[in-house]
Amino acid sequence: MNEYDSNRIYDSVKKIGFDKTENYEDANCYLLNTCHIRDKAKEKIYHEIGRVKKTFRLKRKPLVIVAGCVAQAENQEMLKREPYIDLVIGPQSYHKINNTILNYIEEKKKIEETEFDTISKFEYLSKIKNNSKKISSFLTIQEGCDKFCHFCVVPYTRGPEYSRPFNQIIDEVKYLVANGVKEIILLGQNVNAYNNENYRLSDLILEIEKYPEIERVRYTTSHPKDMTDDLIEIYKYSKKIMPLVHLPVQSGSNKILDLMNRKHTINEYLEIFYKLKEINSKIEFSSDFIIGYPGEEEKDFESTYQFIKKIKFINSYSFIFSPRPGTIAADLKLIEKKISMERLEKIQNQLFKNQINMNKSLENTTINVLGENLTKDKKQVFGRSEYMTPVIFDGKEENIGKILPVKIIKSNRSTLFGKLIINSNKKVA
Ligand code: SAM
Ligand code: SF4
Repeated sequence: MNEYDSNRIYDSVKKIGFDKTENYEDANCYLLNTCHIRDKAKEKIYHEIGRVKKTFRLKRKPLVIVAGCVAQAENQEMLKREPYIDLVIGPQSYHKINNTILNYIEEKKKIEETEFDTISKFEYLSKIKNNSKKISSFLTIQEGCDKFCHFCVVPYTRGPEYSRPFNQIIDEVKYLVANGVKEIILLGQNVNAYNNENYRLSDLILEIEKYPEIERVRYTTSHPKDMTDDLIEIYKYSKKIMPLVHLPVQSGSNKILDLMNRKHTINEYLEIFYKLKEINSKIEFSSDFIIGYPGEEEKDFESTYQFIKKIKFINSYSFIFSPRPGTIAADLKLIEKKISMERLEKIQNQLFKNQINMNKSLENTTINVLGENLTKDKKQVFGRSEYMTPVIFDGKEENIGKILPVKIIKSNRSTLFGKLIINSNKKVA
């Protein structure tokens, strides 16, 4: 989501004369868009600002803006701790960025903008063209969260759940289509909780796929509780929804899910899994896992490990629990670091194995790949499989933006390497 936000901020500040520079030392404005989901981000920001300070020691000081969720969480504190920072702007106040900058240039008054004004933000952004020209583009449809999992800062940094109006989103889809975008990844902290005047995520997907230029639709990140039947059903009808379901489970133990306040059980997760597999056995699942949550005993961890083997999760993310200030879990007794590290290593090894097995199973088969860009040496094409796995194959500029049949010759854990099947414009069934 920060990538989407950064692009939209750029679309906005371009209106007041700012442009991107590839050369760090040329900049007269630095904007750091930050993430607060796990620890370390805050310290990284002060470290980065130290680097800017050093670079500009003998030059004119650039305008320094901190945006994103760390800005939201720390607000005034940032201006006090690091006087080199000029402006602090939270994720729901981006619509004020142009005025805030112009004001600062005129009056040199440092301010922090951290109100939750999500409706005005999207109304403002909807009037500014989304300039994303990537073949695969993000599109935020929902923000914030009302679920309050005990470990998570999102409800405090992104604010309450908000779904953008259906037509506002479709207007943005039209911009993206006109820019040549072929894949849309719908975004939200709880994307499947999308609900605006009874339009649900399923309605949006079916509407977006009516655009012939759009080849693929994906959505992330979902919560099991919001995996409603209408969304599950679209896997029967949709022609463009991809068969990878990113559905974070966090833990395989009901006890831990309860301690985390996740509001669902492992059986409920399994029900979703079986329903989707029945519709299409080729659907695969990916997930997020939090390891070493306070109270996680060996048998809880073992349940997570067995669950990963059972579902055969691919393309997943796993992290050690990171206490976030202000959340309920922040003050709970941590389990020993060494134990958490060992557990993380064990489940990551299993996740890698799942990934390797999946990739190996595709060797000597022909799969559909969406070409996204040329590789650095311009001799090959980088694309993605339907399961989001990177694919590299010999190809040319003209292959970009197209779904192509690629025969997979070899693979490693993270990438598939293949050969374009020439004389075939047909997608693989
Ligand atoms: N809404 C999604 C859900 O409920 O599954 C997750 C969105 S959250 C922004 C992204 C991921 O960050 C979570 O799935 C979780 O695994 C991870 N995460 C959040 N807080 C964390 C924490 N305190 N420590 C470690 N990982 C955390
Ligand atoms: Fe965070 Fe997701 Fe829980 Fe909301 S549902 S609090 S975003 S982990």
